[in-house]
Amino acid sequence: MMDEVNEFDFENRIVSNEYDSTQDSEVENSLRPRTLDEYIGQEKAKGNLKIYIESAKRRGEALDHVLLYGPPGLGKTTLSSIIANELGVNIRTTSGPAIEKQGDLAAILTNLNDGDVLFIDEIHRLSRAVEEILYPAMEDYALDIIIGKGPSARSIRLTIPRFTLIGATTRAGQLTTPLRDRFGVLLKLELYTTEELATIVRRSADILGIGITDDGARAIASRSRGTPRIANRFLKRVRDFALVIGDGTITSDIAKQALQALEVDELGLDSIDRRMLETIIHVYGGGPVGLETLAATVGEEAITIEDVYEPYLMQIGFLSRTPRGRCATKLAYDHLHIPFHPGMTDNQSRMNFDEE
Ligand code: ADP
Repeated sequence: MMDEVNEFDFENRIVSNEYDSTQDSEVENSLRPRTLDEYIGQEKAKGNLKIYIESAKRRGEALDHVLLYGPPGLGKTTLSSIIANELGVNIRTTSGPAIEKQGDLAAILTNLNDGDVLFIDEIHRLSRAVEEILYPAMEDYALDIIIGKGPSARSIRLTIPRFTLIGATTRAGQLTTPLRDRFGVLLKLELYTTEELATIVRRSADILGIGITDDGARAIASRSRGTPRIANRFLKRVRDFALVIGDGTITSDIAKQALQALEVDELGLDSIDRRMLETIIHVYGGGPVGLETLAATVGEEAITIEDVYEPYLMQIGFLSRTPRGRCATKLAYDHLHIPFHPGMTDNQSRMNFDEE
């Protein structure tokens, strides 16, 4: 059982919502909406942003720093470009791990123009030293530079352009408090509804010149785990099936057949989700099982399980988080056609059946 579990193929997961640079980033870019009106869903975040952007424009000042958080693939990068576009300013894009030294960030900051947007993806991965020079930059548009060494060292303050920092992270809680407190606007992105995803799929099909019926779009949407990136990826894979086994148009039947062939079930779960739930049920009696223990059993990092796999399983009510650990719910048992005997591991429940 354990060996089997360790064979999980997390890397090549088709329902992965992580950006995969080996896959056509050009296509992904062509599908990105450019304006707030084109950006589908996230009404709450969008409504607030519209006001802040308009207000900043009327005041002729830089927009307050914005923190976008939510699972990967929900549109944080897209939204940051839209904000710059709506403000009519340039955007400079980088990521937490890419900024290694204080000097790297200082160089970026001094090269911005007034009002520009600096987008830092995975901002929770900035090093402490780099983070520290970000504080005065965010607060006072200033860089404190130390000149010289030892007793003769002195600090000088450089003024930098008034910029807007947009940070993206999977969870706001991963940020240090001093950094989080310096963002004026905190926006949480939510998983999308099937209807919103169906609209995104139709829009993407339109851009890519793919024929699709409304039911076809809905069949893809309902299996996309609330995530536009997954919906767009499915669209491209299903298109291949439509060309080969159909007349090129994506219908509901073709979408279902294609996704079934890719081992994605009607709720968007793939073999890895199913086996993760089965592990909780069979090995840990349905839970509670601690995150670290679960991570070790399935051979994946705890943080990936928390950020990438769990949000959707919790959203559809298959997994619950308790103070003592993760539990599979009755819905999960039902979906997997496993009799609901919580608290019983595989062996115990087998013995129970024998007795019955
Ligand atoms: P994140 O930065 O959160 O990982 P991205 O901004 O890279 O996500 O979005 C992933 C893909 O999903 C993009 O190619 C984009 O086209 C699409 N997408 C995301 N949000 C939306 C949306 N609200 N409307 C339409 N397409 C979207």
